[in-house]
Amino acid sequence: MKRVTFADGTDVPALGQGTWMMGEDPARREDEIGALRRGIDLGMTLIDTAEMYGAGASEELVAEAISGRRDAVFLVSKVYPHNASTGRLAAACEASLRRLGTDCLDLYLLHWRGSVPFSETVEGLERLVAAGKIRRWGVSNLDAADMAELRGTAGGEAAATNQLLYNLSCRGIEWDLLPEARDLSMPVMAYSPIDQARLLGDAELAGLAREIGATPAQLALAWVLDRPGVIAIPKAGRVTHVEENAAAAGIVLTDEIRARLDALFPPPAGPSPLAIL
Ligand code: NAP
Repeated sequence: MKRVTFADGTDVPALGQGTWMMGEDPARREDEIGALRRGIDLGMTLIDTAEMYGAGASEELVAEAISGRRDAVFLVSKVYPHNASTGRLAAACEASLRRLGTDCLDLYLLHWRGSVPFSETVEGLERLVAAGKIRRWGVSNLDAADMAELRGTAGGEAAATNQLLYNLSCRGIEWDLLPEARDLSMPVMAYSPIDQARLLGDAELAGLAREIGATPAQLALAWVLDRPGVIAIPKAGRVTHVEENAAAAGIVLTDEIRARLDALFPPPAGPSPLAIL
């Protein structure tokens, strides 16, 4: 499994697991827990969740999936923007830790930018680092101007990552955010790497995948994994999907396949507003 290194030297698998919408349907619970556990077995040990997902139900499901294996997992959660003030951040983090059944997060992200000034959020996050509640912090859904403002805020340069919508059909960040992150040795976390399964219906992607003996999901993931400094976090609530996705880590793209994917899904020709879900 390819690994990606944070600026502090910590490395994580380039292929992790998302959990949005997990824990919401009791009938799917056992399958979802089984899928996450199988993913850990297969080396997808980075797990991404958020206080928002299922209003905490996703974090509780993750707790069950990683029970007895906390040390094998790189655990990521996110705080709502309205909880990212110095007054509310500590309580929000404590609630996530309780739901996750752990005493420390490996990475804690501001889910998107709200009305709380960055200076306040950074101060609150740094207090959580000092208190040993989180090992590092980052952001999500910040555009290039937001990132410049964050880095101009005292302590803001400590942001470990920006988690962004990134997949074959959504390549806008290649214009600015991705090269800027690389210059800073800051990994980017690619969310919705198979475009919430929409990419799987693309006939041309399917044809190309068939040619190389892969599935469309595997080719879409292999393309994300081929990018330096990018961590992909597909969500799969079924063991079969997890196993299929894990095998994407073993696919090596040739220059010819890269060029044909570029022709089908062109890179940006200029700046564009940040796409978010
Ligand atoms: P995604 O991972 O691109 O797609 C998930 C969908 O694809 C699910 O319906 C899943 O179905 C299906 N799927 C997965 N593997 C498959 C396979 N091999 N074959 C067929 N279908 C497959 O979309 P996402 O969940 O939006 O994004 C991934 C993670 O990123 C989220 O779960 C979340 O952790 C994070 N995220 C963050 C933000 C943010 O604002 N920071 C926003 C969106 C997402 P099954 O569940 O049935 O397997």
